[in-house]
Amino acid sequence: MKNRALTDNLRLFTVAVALALLVGIVAVADRGRMATVAMLGTPTPTPTSTATATATLAPVPTSTPTATQTPSPTSSPTATPRRETATLAPGTPASTPTATATPVGTPTPTYTPSPTPTPVPRTVLASSLNLPDPGEAEDHFWFTRPFTDAHATWGSSYYPFGTNNRGEYLWHHGIDIQNPMGTPILAVGDGVVVHAGPDDETLLGPSLNFFGQALLIRHDREWNDLPVYTLYGHVSKVLAQEGQPVEAGDVVAEVGQAGVALGPHLHLEVRVGGMTYRDVRNPDLWVMPDPGYGVVAGRVIDAQGYLVPQQPVFLYRAEEPDRFWRETFTYPDGVVKSDGEWGETFTFADVPAGGYVLKTYFDGRLYTRPITVTDQATTFVLIEGVALPPTPPPSTPTPSPPPASEWRPDQPDVPPGMACFLVTSDVNGEVTFNLGPQTQMIPPNGYIWFVIEPGYATWTADMHDGRRGRGELDIQPGCEPFVNTLSLSE
Ligand SMILES: [Zn+2]
Repeated sequence: MKNRALTDNLRLFTVAVALALLVGIVAVADRGRMATVAMLGTPTPTPTSTATATATLAPVPTSTPTATQTPSPTSSPTATPRRETATLAPGTPASTPTATATPVGTPTPTYTPSPTPTPVPRTVLASSLNLPDPGEAEDHFWFTRPFTDAHATWGSSYYPFGTNNRGEYLWHHGIDIQNPMGTPILAVGDGVVVHAGPDDETLLGPSLNFFGQALLIRHDREWNDLPVYTLYGHVSKVLAQEGQPVEAGDVVAEVGQAGVALGPHLHLEVRVGGMTYRDVRNPDLWVMPDPGYGVVAGRVIDAQGYLVPQQPVFLYRAEEPDRFWRETFTYPDGVVKSDGEWGETFTFADVPAGGYVLKTYFDGRLYTRPITVTDQATTFVLIEGVALPPTPPPSTPTPSPPPASEWRPDQPDVPPGMACFLVTSDVNGEVTFNLGPQTQMIPPNGYIWFVIEPGYATWTADMHDGRRGRGELDIQPGCEPFVNTLSLSE
């Protein structure tokens, strides 16, 4: 029931945002308040993203790498919302740095948020998949961790299930847990070993010898009358025999890098309904989170009802709504299956319980959802696209001033690949505004347009009495004023 209530709330929220977007300014004002502090005080580090390198992700599951961007484990950039309201600091031009605490329990350092990838064609109507109602779903964390607490137990957060690290790797059918060579691997549940040893004759992965050596367990419990398996891949040693019963916690193998593996790690899979590579499901929804942690799962559907594949989804901690924390991507079409209980198309695992803001941007809209992650439970986020508002009729009998975020008569045309950026001012005086390399004067209570290259840009706003605002922006291509807008107020 709790889950149902949550989903219903999210649906209500979707409608609220849609209305706010149509009206123009309400959602903006709220988000602007959230943005204010960081805009004023935080000397945000320049993202190291080479964000102009747009990754063109091929929709073909067997694709070879098409992008070379790798996560930079040392950077923790700040991704600012695309639409901001800034408040000028009273009196002091100097900025007050705020502490930027590292999130507790981050499994790996944060990394560069992705540039806006070229949208992948959408081919799958969500309604064609008979996805379950997440409001009715119940957690099925049947499995324990495959390592003791003395070792790493979390999967890599930059190569989650159903992603390919921006084309760097194969589409991931499991999760990778890095531990030194020889680390004992534990069975995650009770069952019987159905394969133990090399996969040179039995096809367990996308090709023979993919796992080098692997162990496959058929578990005693069935899910909706379907058999459930777990697979342990790339192991250096197999310590159980085929046909042998095992219990959760039994040591069954040792970590290795056999087969197609870059370094020692365990590749863990969950397979439901069959024991082949195509039967995998997301282990994040099967392995019990640690105490104090939960899982975020969700689904992204566009306004026409299509699944949005390979879509970047960002998670921000509620107390730092302008500071990008983690990123994942929705599943590609037709490569991995959603969970039978949840029907998700993305997950974040090992998320400390607490408040977060989930964001994703597509079809000219930024979708933002506040969520609360609860202890050892799944929090589901359903994002359903909202169609853009109809263009205003050419002649209106009683013209009224449009809200700040809406279309303006002098909106410039931009060449392909460029962006236009709107700065509005509620300041009763001129403001000198620098955006990237450009400087313009904003008249009192006026506005200006910039035509600029999309990507990250720093901005400063100086009033003649010495007050100053500053920040950083992620400017999207095109000329949709709601997206690329900054409002200054006193
Ligand atoms: Zn793997």
